[in-house]
Amino acid sequence: MFFPAFLKSRQIDKPSLPGSIRSRIRIERRFGPLPPTVYIENEFVENARSRIIFTLITLDSLIFVAAGGLGYFLAGKTLDPIKEMVEEQNHFISDSSHELRTPLTAMKTSLEVALMNKKLSLPEAKETLKDNLSDVNNLQKLSDNLLTLNRLENYKNKDFKKLSLKRVLNTNLKRLTPLADTKKITIVTKINDYSVMGSETELGEVFSILIENAIKYSPENTKITISTKKTDHGVNIRFKDQGYGISSKDIPHIFDRFYRADQSRTKNIVSGFGLGLPIAKKIIAKHSGRISVVSQIEKGSEFNIYLPALS
Ligand code: ADP
Repeated sequence: MFFPAFLKSRQIDKPSLPGSIRSRIRIERRFGPLPPTVYIENEFVENARSRIIFTLITLDSLIFVAAGGLGYFLAGKTLDPIKEMVEEQNHFISDSSHELRTPLTAMKTSLEVALMNKKLSLPEAKETLKDNLSDVNNLQKLSDNLLTLNRLENYKNKDFKKLSLKRVLNTNLKRLTPLADTKKITIVTKINDYSVMGSETELGEVFSILIENAIKYSPENTKITISTKKTDHGVNIRFKDQGYGISSKDIPHIFDRFYRADQSRTKNIVSGFGLGLPIAKKIIAKHSGRISVVSQIEKGSEFNIYLPALS
């Protein structure tokens, strides 16, 4: 039988040569000689394979552990502010409940005593009601302050407009002058008018807190000076009194919520909840300003507000 030459050679080559050698011959025919073939022992290949598998598993485990650890760390970092916020809220709730409980207990006790008194006269009953009314007024003030603090902490909207400082100050001064009159305190003003961006209600609240404090914490027949001026730090509004002053140990805390300086002569006779200055500080911070105090016992206090000036 006749076979073409190439078929003959294939028939002869095929059974005798392994595929890899035949491929090599074909490649060498087309492209020239290849480097000599290196034969690797099976055992060596197996070892290398085990090593690679081992390395891959170790690396994967390390990546898994590192990624897990990093995830845990980052989750912790993300949760930190939330944790702080929850702790802050818990403190706020427990402090507020404590402050609410004290006047409520006092009211309850005085009402119970009055009810138990079978010979309670009309003037005595009226006196009890008067005390209770004063407590209710204080409670109302406390709840207003708590709501203000809560609003300042949770709603950051800045509904600011251009304001005349003189007008905002004068409006609040007019309202508080009768209170100063009850203690024969003179209020001296040196107010130059400047424009600032802000909320009239909120800045009015700050001025009112500072003027009211100056009156509350000053003895009779003293003077309060309110002045404004422009400085390198912005518009400065100064409230200076000749009052009882604040000790250096209390100064770092007076802007903390519910803190009342421990001065036996004022703490018991002057009512308050220690919420005015924290509110003032929050409002001033919202207006990108700052508030500071210098004070000396028996000499008086000076509160300074700096607000960004409008050019
Ligand atoms: P409150 O007056 O309701 O106690 P504030 O937050 O306004 O609360 O003030 C905190 C504390 O700072 C006051 O209890 C008082 O001891 C002190 N303080 C504030 N302003 C003055 C001031 N002008 N003179 C002396 N002490 C002051």
